[in-house]
Amino acid sequence: MIEARNFAETNSLDKIMPNASVLVKDGKIIGAAANGSDYHEKNICQRVVLKSPTGQDYELCEGCHPKNHSEGKLMRLAETEGIDTNDTDVYLWGHWWCCEPCWNEMLKANIGNVYLLENSEILFNKNHPDNIVGRQFA
Ligand SMILES: [Zn+2]
Ligand SMILES: [Zn+2]
Repeated sequence: MIEARNFAETNSLDKIMPNASVLVKDGKIIGAAANGSDYHEKNICQRVVLKSPTGQDYELCEGCHPKNHSEGKLMRLAETEGIDTNDTDVYLWGHWWCCEPCWNEMLKANIGNVYLLENSEILFNKNHPDNIVGRQFA
């Protein structure tokens, strides 16, 4: 989980909700991916325009699209590199749930377990008063 945090800090292109997913087999890290794209740097977020609620309308914005989520990126990386994902574990740092497209990609890859950081539903929840959104790496 610490590796996932560090990977997010170093590699995520998402300024607000940086996160990363690490693939683990027999206690060894065999893959990692961070979320985000540079789309929001040059373009306005369509989900902000539409006032989309958290977790919805990802497919309507090029920058928020599930293809930029770390879990889905990790699954496609594993596929590209020929990494066997059967019964491996995913450690997701920086978020407190997975969207349906990412979840489906992980099911397809036969991931054994998905681990989130303890209290992530508080720490990474924009709607929770005790969240750390905006100072995740402080
Ligand atoms: Zn967006
Ligand atoms: Zn997702």
